[in-house]
Amino acid sequence: MKIYSYKDLSKQNVDTLCLRQLADDASIRESVIAIVEEVKVSGDTALKQYALDFDQVTLEQLYLDKATLEAIASTIPEAEKAAINTAYSNIRTFHAAQISTEANIETMPGVNCWREARAIEHVGLYIPGGTAVLPSTFLMLATPAKLAGCKEIVVCSPPQKDGKTNCYLAYCAILLGIDRIWMVGGAQAIAAMAYGTESIPKVDKIFGPGNRYVTQAKQLIQGTTLTAIDMPAGPSEVLVYADETAIPSFVASDLLAQAEHGVDSQAILVATSRQIIANTIQELDKQLEALPRKDIARAAIANSYAVIVNSAAEGMHFSNAYAPEHLILATETYAALIPLISNAGSVFLGNLTPESAGDYASGTNHTLPTSGFAKAYSGVSIDSFIKKITFQHISNSGLAEIGPTVELLANAEGLQAHKNAITIRLQAQDGY
Ligand code: NAD
Repeated sequence: MKIYSYKDLSKQNVDTLCLRQLADDASIRESVIAIVEEVKVSGDTALKQYALDFDQVTLEQLYLDKATLEAIASTIPEAEKAAINTAYSNIRTFHAAQISTEANIETMPGVNCWREARAIEHVGLYIPGGTAVLPSTFLMLATPAKLAGCKEIVVCSPPQKDGKTNCYLAYCAILLGIDRIWMVGGAQAIAAMAYGTESIPKVDKIFGPGNRYVTQAKQLIQGTTLTAIDMPAGPSEVLVYADETAIPSFVASDLLAQAEHGVDSQAILVATSRQIIANTIQELDKQLEALPRKDIARAAIANSYAVIVNSAAEGMHFSNAYAPEHLILATETYAALIPLISNAGSVFLGNLTPESAGDYASGTNHTLPTSGFAKAYSGVSIDSFIKKITFQHISNSGLAEIGPTVELLANAEGLQAHKNAITIRLQAQDGY
């Protein structure tokens, strides 16, 4: 892990450190363009071929139906079932509280305006499943989709080695009331949901994190189809801010929790002294050896770095420039730092609040903007699954109030028909 001193970094150095672009981004984009085009042209046939090429499985049928999902789900151990139930309950409770009705506002006497939420009708959820199957992501996406009232929820996830899905995903499907999972992964899954194939319905919006192929495909289809995306949610990342009240073994565990996601994950440590970094690295080395995914975690840590800052304000300054997906404040004085945070996907406060809690079960959503997109995007929530439609109603007296204003403005813009739409009504009113 490289160590930088914040005071020695120029603005340009900070910008470079905050860049998540990797050297092979262009070649990934090229492969994704080819995959998307192939799915557009050859539909299900292309999906089956990619399952063979990338996942090494032959698929007769691209989806698992309800009976198959129930049979797979029945093999899940009771303890894991209870844990999924608890996580589901917390996620549901937290997201249900986001459903709100807005006030009807009388902007002028007799002129009423308001907004109403409507669910996006057809949504597609991508549940990653390459290096690890993520039932937690299934809960994080499908729970708000169901609560929002989406009519059709298409779920895609890469097939496992047996050509099926694993028992945790199957159990989540049953729990969530979803009776089909498409065994399709990667960029091809995103293309299939964006364009539709013989068997996969086209959706209006695609959700879910994934590797760089998935993220690249989401960005590509966003510009070329009538399909929206939740956000660019690529390889995971964490920035841990640690001061002298942090506990190095805890900090190291948080960095590794992120690093084990994938070799392109980033785990950044911002610390108020060199000693904290040294103690954390010592713990890192110790904990790393015991991890089953140590090779992945080691490679990710090698891509990561630490920054020494002189103050909490400097630390937050760097963090805001990096705009991390996850920000952990490993300090007892976290409350004072909250107002200084302007860019982050999700924030974990104090020494006893690891990111893992939010990843799985506390209730907040773990599908979050990566790569600096936290500067402009929020994580997934109920809002991601709805549109807000504005309504207005003008009464007799309201027309008299607002009419002359609109007539003058329409006239000023030279749009006579706009003016007439008011004048004709005002004249009719005079005749009442
Ligand atoms: P994945 O499901 O995203 O990707 C697996 C698929 O990638 C495969 O099925 C295959 O179709 C495709 N693929 C693999 N190699 C390919 C190649 N050479 N060319 C074209 N396609 C290829 O699963 P994953 O790889 O395990 O990645 C999951 C990612 O999701 C990780 O990077 C993790 O950090 C990220 N993640 C992000 C968030 C978030 O909120 N940002 C949350 C959870 C996970």
